This record gives sequence, C-alpha cells and structure tokens, in this order.
Amino acid sequence: MAQELALGVMTQFHQPPREALEAVRALDIPTVQVGYPGQLDSADGVAAIQDASAQTGVEITTVFCGYAGESYADIPTVQATVGLVPPSTRAARLDMTHRIADFARRLGVARVAAHIGFVPEDAADPAYRDIVETIQGLCDRLAGQGQVFALETGQETARGLRQFIGDVGRPNLRVNFDPANMILYGKDKPIPALDLLMPWIDGVHCKDGRWPTQPGQLGEETPLGQGDVDLRRWLHRLIELGYRGPLTIEREISGEQQRRDIAAGRDLIRSLIAE
Ligand code: MG
Repeated sequence: MAQELALGVMTQFHQPPREALEAVRALDIPTVQVGYPGQLDSADGVAAIQDASAQTGVEITTVFCGYAGESYADIPTVQATVGLVPPSTRAARLDMTHRIADFARRLGVARVAAHIGFVPEDAADPAYRDIVETIQGLCDRLAGQGQVFALETGQETARGLRQFIGDVGRPNLRVNFDPANMILYGKDKPIPALDLLMPWIDGVHCKDGRWPTQPGQLGEETPLGQGDVDLRRWLHRLIELGYRGPLTIEREISGEQQRRDIAAGRDLIRSLIAE
C-alpha cells in the first residue's frame, strides 16, 4: 500500500510499461492511476506491467475506464457520448467495464473508476432508475472480485451525486473527486462539495481549471495552482476532513509541457501539504 497522501499521476501506457513507469519514477512520484491499456490486456501484458511496477516501485492504485466513441468537445456532446448513461451504447460499454475490471483484478488492482456520464438530476426520471440499476449490478459484480467502483466527479452537483450514491446503496461505491471538473462543467464549488462527499472519497485528481464563460462550453483546464480551484484551501480541507489516500495529479495535455506541468504541480502539492 502507498504511504499516506502519496503523490500520484494519471498515466496512459502509450509507451511500453517499463518506460512509462520509469518516466513516473523519474518525477519522484510513487503511484499512478492508469487508463485501461487494451493492447496490454493479455497474460504477457499483465506480467509486463507487474514487472515494471515491481522494478520501478511505482504502485498502480486505479484502472480508469474509457469507451470508444466518447467526446469531450462541449457539454451537449459529453452528455450524448460519455460513460454508461447514454442508452444506445450502455450494454456494450458495460461489457467493456466488466472486461476492464477483470483486467484490473488480474493485475492486482482493487479500484476501478469511470466517468459514468451525466446522471439525470431528477430521481423520478425513468432514465435515472435505469442508471441506478446499472451501477448496482456493476458494483455487485466488482464486489465479487474484491473491487470498488469509483465515480469520477464533475458532471453532476455534489448533492445530486450524494443522492445517487444513496439510491445505488452499495458499500463498494466510491468517489474519485476531481475539483477541476466541477468547475469545468460549471456544476459545483469543489470545496463545499468535499464536505458533502467525503465519506465516499477514496481517490482524487489534483487538477485545476477555470469556470466556463459561455453556455454549453466547458471551462479551460490550467496547470495546477493557476485555475479557480483554490488548490491550497481545497487540499487543506481535504486533509482536515481526514483524507489520506493518493494525491493523483492529472494534466490533460501531452508531451514535454505536460511533464513540466506535472513536475511543477508535484512541487506545489508538496509545499502546500507541508504548511
Ligand atoms: Mg479527472
């Protein structure tokens, strides 16, 4: 198990696992959440990842689901294309989620996370009941494998998410709290939201961003500390409420700038938690 408040980074295995985790180790970051690497979903792939993790000492804390056909272009497109909520793709994506959870189990990772999409805010909406039942079934399946399922925040209010968690009513349902998403989707204020959701938060994304300026558009992601999250207050409140899990940096760009922003974010988080 990672030490308390271990730094982490959201990582994709675009390179071979050993190279990818060595790059994380070079940043002096001891944990990762990884996007599901379909190309490594084999006995050899699992062995290669486990070997890379053992050799580098970088622990994988979560496998994140992603689905073909998703687009984050703007809010209506996210609503129509992302996660398990859209009915036309739900069955196929549920099968994919089962496959991802099985992969995570073979890898020895007990936490699977996803954006499930825009859950209707009206609990009387029949579509709401459908998605509650879908997540109940998924949680039950994962519980049988000793796993938890974490909901990535951002596409609903904290109050709406709390209602949903209560209605699903499964003990292995968790929250992966991304404060920037709440802002980027214009949904909620991330610091009061912590108080509402704390009992379920077992992972976070340290990410920053600015509020949207036009209806229907997403806000703009920024390097950590440069957006509207108020990282200092958010982090201090998170810790004050008792959170001790990994602090996983997420920076959704690529290349050298991403590496620099992650390194700067790491230094910023270290200095804030030492205050
Ligand atoms: Mg996130």
